[in-house]
Amino acid sequence: MNFKEGEMVITVKFGELWLRGRNRGMYVNALKNNLLVLLKGERFKLEKDYDRFIIRPSHDANMEHLRTGLSHLFGISGYEISYVTKPTLAAICKSSKILLKDKKGIKAVRINAHRSYKKFKFNSIDITRNLIKVLGDIGISPELHNFDQELFVNVTRDWAFLSMDRVKGPGGLPVGTSGRGIVLLSGGIDSPVAAWYAMKRGVEPIPVHIHGYSDAKEAMESKIPRLVEILSSYSPGTKTYYVPSHVFQMGALRSGRHELILLKAFMLRLADAIAEKEGAQAIFTGESLGQVASQTMSNLQAEQNGVKTQILRPLIGFDKQEIISIAKRIGTYDESIKPYKDVCSINSRNPVTRTDPGLMSELIKEFKIAALVKKSLKLSKIEAHSR
Ligand code: ATP
Ligand code: MG
Repeated sequence: MNFKEGEMVITVKFGELWLRGRNRGMYVNALKNNLLVLLKGERFKLEKDYDRFIIRPSHDANMEHLRTGLSHLFGISGYEISYVTKPTLAAICKSSKILLKDKKGIKAVRINAHRSYKKFKFNSIDITRNLIKVLGDIGISPELHNFDQELFVNVTRDWAFLSMDRVKGPGGLPVGTSGRGIVLLSGGIDSPVAAWYAMKRGVEPIPVHIHGYSDAKEAMESKIPRLVEILSSYSPGTKTYYVPSHVFQMGALRSGRHELILLKAFMLRLADAIAEKEGAQAIFTGESLGQVASQTMSNLQAEQNGVKTQILRPLIGFDKQEIISIAKRIGTYDESIKPYKDVCSINSRNPVTRTDPGLMSELIKEFKIAALVKKSLKLSKIEAHSR
């Protein structure tokens, strides 16, 4: 690679993908594609080097935008803003001095030296020893524990990379490498977080939203597309399904206290049908056990009556407070709490907490849920996302 001495680059470390020997090429390719989508609009060159990518931003690149994109890129363990210099002790010392002097107010530094290329005469202990001398020259003390700054040195065959700016990545797997999943996305707090966890493990999400409007346009201009957009900042998005609930509501008018559980069964069957159409291998929902009266083990079991696709519930063991703090961190919370005409709230008063599986089968037949699903699916609108 042809760097300029003193060039600033971003080195991006792959995460867990290294564990996957045989499929490594596929993971690295997916990561590269996702990176290019997430950093779209920025000008940079991308190179692959050992177990990482090196981003070379153009002089007018927006570093904050690049940082945000990388902090949303599943599959990386972290990144560093690095200063490139020659792989010699003299160059490493000289450049480190420039960097350390540039950053005002630091008193104690921990040095982390590492060689990716082992054939040089000097080793990482030699680098550390020399850098301790440099620290002494400029009045900074070397510290292993009580430091206020770290200096990372990585020496490769052709270049040395110095960094004082190392950021932890989101981990996980590149979105898409685990296949597709249907995400039942409400306007609430939980399901966007469930979608995020699905993406974190490499699932390409297809959100399905069931809305209470007579015209899909209203749902498609509500906070739902905004939530999808926030989620898409973590993944190259595909499409969202908007399905009306009125066919179900008319059909299940007389179901009384069972309406909520029937609605859930309807949603899951709908997701099942869409999964088949889209080649998705799982349905993701935002339930957590016992969070509300309707989310009992008995109800979760009853709702999935007749659903062929596996249902994954990433939040099953989370407390509401935990989910809220994650929602805040990933950026969905503020949209989630905005008022919305949610179909579930219509009949959520006093729902049944124990649903007998036998009764559930009868209800599904009595209210012709399969036919309602078919009809609703015909009325659904699909919004494609291009990024
Ligand atoms: P959330 O915060 O995600 O809305 P919740 O705590 O309100 O969840 P429920 O209303 O019981 O819980 O919904 C459970 C799950 O069912 C949701 O997490 C979501 O996956 C799915 N779901 C609920 N309402 C809808 C909807 N209108 N469209 C699509 N999926 C929905
Ligand atoms: Mg809800």
